[in-house]
Amino acid sequence: MKPSAETSTEATIAQFDRYVIGNYRRYPVCLVRGEGSWIWDAEGNRYLDLFPGWGCNLLGHCPPRVVEAVRDQVGRLIHVPNTWYMEPQGQLAQALSERSFGGQCFFCNSGAEANEAAIKLARAFGHERGRTKIVTMQGGFHGRTYAALTATAQPKYHEGFEPMVPGFEYVPFNDIPAVAEVLDDRTAAILVEPIQGEGGVHIPSPDYLIELRRLCDRRGVLLMLDEVQTGMARTGRWFGYQHRGAIPDILTCAKALAGGIAMGVMIASPTVASVLKPGMHASTFGGNPIACRAALATIETIEEEGLLERGTAIGERFRSHFEGLRHELGGLIREVRILGTMIGIDLTIDASGIVAECLKRRLLINATHGHVIRLLPALTVTDEQIDEGCSILADVLRRASA
Ligand SMILES: *Cc1c(COP(=O)(O)O)cnc(C)c1O
Repeated sequence: MKPSAETSTEATIAQFDRYVIGNYRRYPVCLVRGEGSWIWDAEGNRYLDLFPGWGCNLLGHCPPRVVEAVRDQVGRLIHVPNTWYMEPQGQLAQALSERSFGGQCFFCNSGAEANEAAIKLARAFGHERGRTKIVTMQGGFHGRTYAALTATAQPKYHEGFEPMVPGFEYVPFNDIPAVAEVLDDRTAAILVEPIQGEGGVHIPSPDYLIELRRLCDRRGVLLMLDEVQTGMARTGRWFGYQHRGAIPDILTCAKALAGGIAMGVMIASPTVASVLKPGMHASTFGGNPIACRAALATIETIEEEGLLERGTAIGERFRSHFEGLRHELGGLIREVRILGTMIGIDLTIDASGIVAECLKRRLLINATHGHVIRLLPALTVTDEQIDEGCSILADVLRRASA
C-alpha cells in the first residue's frame, strides 16, 4: 500500500489515536520528506531541523551517499542471517575497529540492544571469578530493555516496572571517589556515557574517563562506554573517549551509526570478546547488509567531506551565538555545554514552552530534563542554517525573559 497523496495530518493523527499505542507524546505534525537540515510536513510546510532524527540523522535527512548505498544494496541482497558470511558486515567491522581501539564487533539494531550485549558480555567474562556486578552513573541513560533500563539510574524510568534486574549499583556521575568506594571483587564492569546526553548534556571533568580507566585497571574491572549518542563523529572525534585517550574494554554505539538506518554495535577488545562462543548471544537482523552499507556510506561521507573538523567548527559557531545570548539575557541561560555537535543550553526556566514556540516558528529542537535545550544538528548543517536557527531561538528566549 502506497502512502496516499491526499492524506492530511489530521487524518493521520486520527489513525494513530485508533491504531497506534499511545506510549509517545507526539507533536501534532506529520513529517513526510526531508533533505539535509530541512524537513517538510504533510501540508507542505518547511522546518529547520536542528535535532534531526533524535541524533540518528547525523548527516541530515536523506544524505546522498547513504541513499545511494541503500538503493544499491536493496536490489542485491536485503537480508541474510548470521549463519552466513557477508561482505558489508566484515568491511564495517574493520572500519569501526580501525577508527576505535582495534576491537571486534557484534552488530544489533539499537542502542538498548548494544548495551544488553555489553552487560551480558561483561558478566560472561567475569562469571568464573564471581564478578557479576555492574556499576552505572546516576542521571545516565542506557535504553528501555530490562538490563539497559536497570542500568539507567533514573527512578522515573523504573517506576511501575519493578522488579529490576539484580546486580546493579549506582553512583553519582563525575565522582571518582564514589566509584572507588563501590568497586569490589564482585564488580564485573562500569558502564558510563562519556557525556550524559539524555541526562542533560553533562560533560564530565577532563580526566574523568582516564581516572575511571586507572581505577578499573587497579581493581580488575571492565570499562564499558555507552557511546550510543556520543559515538560516530558526534563530538568532533569518531568516539567521545578519543578526546581524552581513555581506551575502553567495551564500547557501544547506535543512533548515528548508519546515518539514520536502524543499527547498533558493541565493540569489544579481542580478549574480552573471546568469551562469547556460538550460541551465547545473537540478533536476527544484526549486521544485515543494508544497515552495514548505510554505515559504510556514513563513514565515507564523514571522511570525504572533512566532517570531523566541521563538527568542531559547527559547535564553535553555536557557542559564539549562545555565549553572546547568555551575557545578553542575564539569568535565563545558566550554562552552555558544547562538544562538537552535541549541544546543551541549560536554562533557569522550563524549556518545553521554548520548544513549542520554536515549533510554531518552524524550528525543530529538543528539551531534556525539563530545563535543558538540546541540539544534535547534522554535520552537514550550513553556517546560514546555524545562524537562522540561532536567531529564531534567540528571539524566542528574549521573549521568554521579557
Ligand atoms: C538513545 C540512547 C540509548 C538507547 O538507544 P535505543 O536505540 O533507543 O535503544 C542508550 N544509550 C544512550 C546514551 C542513548 O542516548
